[in-house]
Amino acid sequence: MKIEKLIRENIRAMKPYSSARDEFKDFDTEMIFLDANENPHENGVNRYPDPQQKTVKTELVKLKKVKESQILLGNGSDEVLDLIFRAFCEPKEDNIITLPPTYGMYSVLANLNNIENREIVLTKNFEPSVKNILEGADKNSKILFLCSPNNPTGNSFSKESVEVLLNTFPGIVVIDEAYIDFSEHKSWLDRLNEFPNLIITQTFSKAYAMAGVRLGICYASEEIIAVLNKIKPPYNINDLTQKCALKRFTKLDDLKDDVKNILKERARLIQGLKEISFVEKIYPSDANFVLVVVDNATKRYNQLIEKGIVIRNRTTQPLCENTLRFTVGTKKETKLLIKALNEI
Ligand SMILES: *Cc1c(COP(=O)(O)O)cnc(C)c1O
Repeated sequence: MKIEKLIRENIRAMKPYSSARDEFKDFDTEMIFLDANENPHENGVNRYPDPQQKTVKTELVKLKKVKESQILLGNGSDEVLDLIFRAFCEPKEDNIITLPPTYGMYSVLANLNNIENREIVLTKNFEPSVKNILEGADKNSKILFLCSPNNPTGNSFSKESVEVLLNTFPGIVVIDEAYIDFSEHKSWLDRLNEFPNLIITQTFSKAYAMAGVRLGICYASEEIIAVLNKIKPPYNINDLTQKCALKRFTKLDDLKDDVKNILKERARLIQGLKEISFVEKIYPSDANFVLVVVDNATKRYNQLIEKGIVIRNRTTQPLCENTLRFTVGTKKETKLLIKALNEI
């Protein structure tokens, strides 16, 4: 597959903005910096951040066994996803394929970028329908979004289906792995080099417990990363975020414990939900949330709000009639939730 052919013409032709920090890169050394019109009085944040986030990427290289040139960082995965749209999708001409019920941002970004969103609903088992996807695609189908583990259904897609799609979909395949650290399935990152059209996104917002700093990660071929680099805002990852991320890497054992605890808590939550009379079905989860079918989702949602507990009502999504999505909280929160559900 020729990735070059998938890139929008204006993006292919464009020259990136060259910031002061791009032109002179060794800014760690003892130099006098009078190049970026910064305020020279040191306060910890008076300088522009590293536009290439070298120190953060160095840690990711060690941790994920990829090359630095295969990584792009974004202001949350949401920025990464938007950059992917802008690189590949010509407004009013190209289309993307999404598989509802799934993460809402793909369709928001499609609207924002004036791109048609072709929705191919998942099967009843919440798996991609490979046949329908390939039949729905045409020469303007630039991106297929696979969210695995999928939000809000909680399942990971079968390896076989994903592999067929990677081999046959005529455009970019984005695998959104926001919940991969909770999953029993392996990340597709190990196989990045096999598929030139594969983009994997991950995030610091979920298992890494850093939703507040906004840090998303994109892994892809050098060629794709080079294009995304060209169009990203020069200083998209601020200095505080980079520092927080670096600190997080020094405590990766905490992360493993955190994930273990959340998975233990998920089991407790599911156990509690099983005892609730109006809970009709609990879908298996490969993530840190559980999708549940109840008798009347909107009624139960409102009753929980009255008890001071906010969950997500997914009843309007395809295949999700009368479903509620529960995020796994702390042990105390699960206890209070189950108590409230019993009272209801
Ligand atoms: C939460 C979530 C994200 C994270 O987005 P950020 O912008 O990195 O916070 C990405 N994809 C899915 C499917 C999610 O549920």
